[in-house]
Amino acid sequence: FNQIPAKESQDDTKAPLPKGVVLDKDGKPCRTCTSVASWRALTKQAKAESAAPSDTSPLSSSADKMTTATTPLAAAASPAAPSTPAECPPDVEELGRSTWTLLHTMAATYPEKADIQQQNDMQGFLKFFSRLYPCWVCADDFKTWMAHPSGRNQPKLSGRKEFGWWMCEAHNEVNRKLGKKEFDCRFWEERWRTGWKD
Ligand code: FAD
Repeated sequence: FNQIPAKESQDDTKAPLPKGVVLDKDGKPCRTCTSVASWRALTKQAKAESAAPSDTSPLSSSADKMTTATTPLAAAASPAAPSTPAECPPDVEELGRSTWTLLHTMAATYPEKADIQQQNDMQGFLKFFSRLYPCWVCADDFKTWMAHPSGRNQPKLSGRKEFGWWMCEAHNEVNRKLGKKEFDCRFWEERWRTGWKD
């Protein structure tokens, strides 16, 4: 897992957390910033730690940072757990997929020509979204991208086509960062508004 290369836990004095585990600003593992795979590795580590004979185990420091008691975390890591746990809190990927669905659908239902009020409303939404998105590393990068000093990444809010294209570019920025294939923005409406022609 190398989807969030920066801002992972790195504390030389403590046992390293599994790759891909991202910490919250308070130093606890951030579930919504971390993939299921990395989260499982973390729970496995915590389980090993709780089974260790002494408190001096090098894993104790990371286990101390767990937000949840060992039992539910260990349960999530059990071999019987399904690969995509149902009815569980979202990881960074599930949260991302759901959020992109919301964001692109907002673009798809945006007015063809937006009046000032509608533009201001969407501007406000994006501003708060980029502060409040629950994966804080994602939010930070998104905010930084939007605030590029050239102004070239500012939301284009005059109407649906411009906004939909802008959202597609924003999503492609994240795709690039994660090493994913870029989406051809000429087709954003087919994907998110009209559907594909048969
Ligand atoms: P997703 O990228 O979630 O895409 C869902 C669907 O959207 C695709 O199946 C495709 O049909 C369509 N699509 C793909 N690209 C585009 C596009 N450019 N325009 C229109 N439609 C498109 N994850 C991290 O690990 N690190 C991050 O820093 C990070 N930052 C994020 C920032 C934001 C604002 C959001 C909303 C999500 C972020 N994510 C991040 C999550 C990440 O973008 C993905 O959602 C997640 O990895 C799941 O990817 P996926 O391959 O299932 O498809």
